[in-house]
Amino acid sequence: MPFPHAPASTSSITSGPHPIRFNFENTYARLPERFYSRLNPTAVPTPRLIKVNVELARALGLDPEALASPEGVQVLSGNRLAEGSEPLAMAYAGHQFGYFVPQLGDGRANLLGEVVGSNGLRYDIQLKGSGPTPFSRRGDGRASLGPVLREYIVSEAMAALGVPTTRALAAVTTGEEVLREEAFPGAILTRVAASHLRVGTFQYFSAQDDVEGTRILADYAIARHYPGAAHTKHPYRALLDGVIARHAALVAQWMLLGFVHGVMNTDNTSISGETIDYGPCAFMENYDPNTVFSSIDHQERYAYSNQPRVALWNLTRLAETLLPVFAQELGDEASALASAKEALAAFTPQFEAARLAGLRRKLGLVTERKEDAALAEDLLNRMAANRADFTLTFRRLCGAAAGPEGDKEVRTLFSDPGAYDAWATGWRRRLEEEPIASAQRAATMRMANPAFIPRNHMVEAALDAAVEQQNLQPFEDLLDVVSRPYEDRPNLERYTKPARPEERVNHTFCGT
Ligand code: AMP
Ligand code: MG
Repeated sequence: MPFPHAPASTSSITSGPHPIRFNFENTYARLPERFYSRLNPTAVPTPRLIKVNVELARALGLDPEALASPEGVQVLSGNRLAEGSEPLAMAYAGHQFGYFVPQLGDGRANLLGEVVGSNGLRYDIQLKGSGPTPFSRRGDGRASLGPVLREYIVSEAMAALGVPTTRALAAVTTGEEVLREEAFPGAILTRVAASHLRVGTFQYFSAQDDVEGTRILADYAIARHYPGAAHTKHPYRALLDGVIARHAALVAQWMLLGFVHGVMNTDNTSISGETIDYGPCAFMENYDPNTVFSSIDHQERYAYSNQPRVALWNLTRLAETLLPVFAQELGDEASALASAKEALAAFTPQFEAARLAGLRRKLGLVTERKEDAALAEDLLNRMAANRADFTLTFRRLCGAAAGPEGDKEVRTLFSDPGAYDAWATGWRRRLEEEPIASAQRAATMRMANPAFIPRNHMVEAALDAAVEQQNLQPFEDLLDVVSRPYEDRPNLERYTKPARPEERVNHTFCGT
């Protein structure tokens, strides 16, 4: 069945003579040939536009109308190359669920090139689902519509929530079917990333004892993501420190939003500190630290509460790859090891500090007291014991911060409402020590506690409507909702609600 054109919000973009200009300025393609495999995307029969991210396009200096034009859709589907594009599939390795795979690589993606955004930062423009590559192994190189829309929604939600993340510039259908458990419409996502360097990229060279490759990659990562490191006494150590600091902050943000990444393999751990790879990820509803959604995470390795530990494990793998360049930098192996250990030791305190600072913001505390951590943990424990919805509890706490009349909205989220009351008494006592007015506090808290997250059942409903009924309206509506997560929008109340028992989504799938 033919897929309908993009709905009103994008079809209002007029078609016409809009030449595609990306102004590609490629640096990765200048690296040695062993870093990638040059190849073009594989053409698809009948590409059709699903969505262009108008704001993101403009921020990248791209013309959204040109992207949405027939010529633009040819580019977004890989059927035509824009001027200056130098397509390649990147080589990388990775630990998947703890097991090392020496060669993974872009099995279904083409880096088209890099553009410099209006903020002066450089971004990769990548097609995901653009056909087989030398790294495809048994895969077909394609992506199906559901997972493409899922990545679109969740990555854009994360961006709007203020979390460093790859973004979605566009989605198209291909006119081909892809075979998974059944046949689904094929689709391609245009992904934008600060870069696609991963911990696994370093592991690729390290596993081949290619110290020169590791060093070239490290120099590239410094130039692109940690330019300040170049001016320090030990640039490679400063690189490692930088990646560790960004991941400590990143995972703290995930924890503060109830986000479960689901597939924190080292190939899905970015060097830039962005969230990457939206496969089985999901936001939890009722607070439960053991939450796992991914249907393939049998060992619960990537459970919500394990995320900081896994991040440190992944960063330890990165540190290992850098030992030879550390040794060159510091003169001997013992110093290299000591330096790497010292860098890694900073992760947990940095993570904990970021998490505590975030919990204070969530609770409306602008001053710091030693007891704040215990106050926050007490609330979380009570939420867990009473199956309180994570997002709603904190959002409604903003109302309760304005005055005790807001308590009734919060307490009903707890299976035993008295469990909240007992905590709220201590919280109010703590708030009395704060220098700010309660109305101002409530407003500040609303910037730390989103009203809207992409709830799983809403995501699934949007994907089902698109895939099964060719109806993109629920996708468009949900995207609009999650793009303004901190605003109260009374007419969109239903998006704030957790799933009813019959709507609950307990398992998510990679859907590759
Ligand atoms: P992921 O689980 O998305 O992180 O992917 C892990 C590896 O599998 C990467 O090397 C991907 O490029 C590859 N891969 C995933 N899906 C496909 C596919 N349909 N065809 C080819 N390679 C794939
Ligand atoms: Mg991946």
